[in-house]
Amino acid sequence: MIVLGLEGTAWNLSASLVSDDEVLFEANSAYIPTSGGIHPREAAQHFASNVIGVIGEVLSSTDPRSIEGIAFSQGPGFGPCLRIVGTAARALALKLGVPLVGVNHCIAHIEVERWKTDLLDPMVLYVSGANSQVLSYRQKRYRILGETLDIGIGNCLDKFARSAGLRHPGGPKVERLAQESERYLPMPYVVKGMDFSFSGIATAAQEAMKSASLEDICYSFQETAFSMLVEVCERALSQTDKSDLLLAGGVGANKRLQEMLAIMCSERGARFFAPKTEYLQDNGAMIAYTGLLMLSNGVHTPITDSGANPNFRPDEVEVLWIKG
Ligand code: AMP
Ligand code: MG
Repeated sequence: MIVLGLEGTAWNLSASLVSDDEVLFEANSAYIPTSGGIHPREAAQHFASNVIGVIGEVLSSTDPRSIEGIAFSQGPGFGPCLRIVGTAARALALKLGVPLVGVNHCIAHIEVERWKTDLLDPMVLYVSGANSQVLSYRQKRYRILGETLDIGIGNCLDKFARSAGLRHPGGPKVERLAQESERYLPMPYVVKGMDFSFSGIATAAQEAMKSASLEDICYSFQETAFSMLVEVCERALSQTDKSDLLLAGGVGANKRLQEMLAIMCSERGARFFAPKTEYLQDNGAMIAYTGLLMLSNGVHTPITDSGANPNFRPDEVEVLWIKG
């Protein structure tokens, strides 16, 4: 089966063609804000100006008659961005006369990584701009075992970085500055059961700017926030007896987070996987591949149900492609 997938939840507009066993082609057009953070309307305007171009690139890489389905990111994400890719996907499906399938972006991150590794049933830490969740498959759904009570860790890093005068995206800049320090300043460590909260760290970090160096603050921010995530992942592994941990989402590119998770996993005899950056960040291949799994299992999305779903939660999706 060959499926064309369109990703466009926040900053990366990406169109990709996949078959059952490989990524055949991918075209990307990233929106990079000139100042401040991601502005949903500006991002959507960027998508609207470039969506025909990226789809055109993909279509010119193949015979369009070989395409058997159109998948698109239905949510979670920014409404204005989701509406652009949804409109393009509907038009394409109608034009080619093939089924349409709306994909949950978080599930797509997990499925593309399961495809590219030998992981059958991992515990997943999904850390992106807007989302921070610990997920695990059980009885036909990806269940959310723990999640942020307020903002996603990526947004928290970006927000703090902006307040310190660093350009978007802030995560990589905070990571680089943190490497220059080992002086720990106490920050709010908030884990409630299996959930966690980051907004206190953002406030404390901004407050610390009055008296501490940026390097010390970045170091302390990372050590505190990442320790919270490691604690919850460890408890999730322990409670479920799962033996693999998979990292997903843009913040997963952080080497210190990877190191801390790897240490925790090795101490409890679990395996830890951090995929390549191309799959950690938002990409069309993950949408196309998850769409392929859904279509192969008889799932498609009627046009009337294909509207944007900005708060689409992974546990709303019945996972029919995992057997047994
Ligand atoms: P996503 O929403 O999955 O596309 O991820 C975007 C988020 O990842 C943004 O908030 C970035 O600041 C963050 N990010 C990217 N690279 C890193 C890094 N090396 N360390 C921490 N955060 C990062
Ligand atoms: Mg993402």
